[in-house]
Amino acid sequence: MSLMGQMMQMPLSISSLLIHAARHHGDTEIVSKRVEGDMHRTSWAEVELRSRKLAQALQRLGCEPGDRVGTLAWNGYRHLEIYYAVSGSELVCHTINPRLFPQQVAWIINDAQDKILFVDLNILPLVEKLAPTLPALKHVVLMCGRDNMPREHVLDNLLCYEELIEAEDGHYSWPTFDENTAASICYTSGTTGNPKGAVYSHRSTVLHAYASALPDSMCLKATDTMLPVVPMFHVNAWGVPYSAALVGCKLVMPGHHLDGPSLYELMEQEQVTISAGVPTIWQGLLNHVQANNLRFSSFRTTIIGGSACPPSMLRTFENDYNVEVVHAWGMTELSPIGTICRLKGKHANLPLEAGQKILEKQGRAVFGVDMRIVDAEGDPQPWNGIASGDLEVRGHWVIDSYFNVDKSPLHQGWFPTGDVATIDADGYMQVVDRSKDVIKSGGEWISSIELENVLMAHPAVQQAAAIAAHHPKWDERPLMVVVKKPGAKVTREELLAFFKGKIPNWQTPDDVVFVDELPHTATGKLYKLKLRQMFADHKLPTA
Ligand code: AMP
Repeated sequence: MSLMGQMMQMPLSISSLLIHAARHHGDTEIVSKRVEGDMHRTSWAEVELRSRKLAQALQRLGCEPGDRVGTLAWNGYRHLEIYYAVSGSELVCHTINPRLFPQQVAWIINDAQDKILFVDLNILPLVEKLAPTLPALKHVVLMCGRDNMPREHVLDNLLCYEELIEAEDGHYSWPTFDENTAASICYTSGTTGNPKGAVYSHRSTVLHAYASALPDSMCLKATDTMLPVVPMFHVNAWGVPYSAALVGCKLVMPGHHLDGPSLYELMEQEQVTISAGVPTIWQGLLNHVQANNLRFSSFRTTIIGGSACPPSMLRTFENDYNVEVVHAWGMTELSPIGTICRLKGKHANLPLEAGQKILEKQGRAVFGVDMRIVDAEGDPQPWNGIASGDLEVRGHWVIDSYFNVDKSPLHQGWFPTGDVATIDADGYMQVVDRSKDVIKSGGEWISSIELENVLMAHPAVQQAAAIAAHHPKWDERPLMVVVKKPGAKVTREELLAFFKGKIPNWQTPDDVVFVDELPHTATGKLYKLKLRQMFADHKLPTA
């Protein structure tokens, strides 16, 4: 008979991260550029106290374990307090991307059955518009002080964040419960059909925080000043609000000011050492420092993911600015970190260029994530850096199922990522293609099917395919490839104008090209891979 270990059973809990940060790094700062326009300074100790008060307020508003609490907010200290107050009190924090099409935001709120919605000041108009379509919603809390509450609004259930906190005494003990309890939900529109919710547990979140802070991951330390550019509604800002508490580092929250000049100013002012975001953001920052001959005085590491890091960006940061680039790959369904690219001991004496060639890849699996590449029959492919296959993963922080969806997304117990990759003998994974039919522009998804459905409703269109075309700023932008109905006359401009009002403006395709026929696979499906190859060099007029 096996001998059982004799260690304490302490559930992994999100509140324990905050308690640790408050106790051991209580005076370490959290600095936020607020939507109100000013800078705000608080500390881990203060965030913990106010999170307790907010947890009390949520109880007073009638929240019960398992209830979902939504946020439509940028990166800031109040959003951080909501993260901890909600998850820590056994509720489920549901972050929502305000940039989605309003109907999609409403669909997501209704699917999650959010009871309370926390909203940043400049997102209130969106919520006012959607409120009549949100039957389960009981209260909207505006994330501001009394002075900033609007005199006129259309909501009859609008509360003030600071008033809620002021009304509480903070005499609240974080409850203990099963570590597999849901902590947060994030919806992804990176697959076809309606957005799907990934439900993270306390256990998966804490394990992800441990792994993501490791030296070969983000290498986050108490001495760091971390600026998460990645929004808190994008897979919990890649777990930074948790890993930052775990190590007790200083956090700098940029609000909605993500342009190059604003980021540079904030980084210099707060002496940021490490940051994380998508390539489009970094391009904006690099353009600004290059155009103005600026240097970074403290910035040492940038974590780049969400889309492939362009090789030229890696070299510009490293060779011209002495900023280490850490390329990472992940997904909403992976909390998000899957692989991170760092060199091994055996690479120590490689010439710079050879080392950077490796660093262009998406990287090695972080402990806790297991990966494989398989062919169409599901057979594992060799790790030789040449054979490619569908990338599948499993692990402690990989989803097992989606919220409210019965059908399992798994294939033989593995989660199929929709990415096509090679893995070399040293375990470095490189994404070479995508089998899922979506377009990722500046880190945000655009559904090909939605674009195709719009054009298919045009009387002159027989067939329409949306594919990703390369764009220097946004990485990918939608290109429509269209077959006209026989004899029909329609122009590129007319088709582009046809999208107006049917999808968010930023999703409108950049170009339309007309062809006589579209390529199809043997099974009669549209052959998107072939189409992407045909237009691999297509120059977008917007590029
Ligand atoms: P999301 O769920 O929105 O985080 O998107 C996840 C998807 O973004 C992945 O399945 C990839 O298609 C893409 N992605 C994320 N990181 C990278 C990367 N470093 N290189 C290439 N594609 C990436």
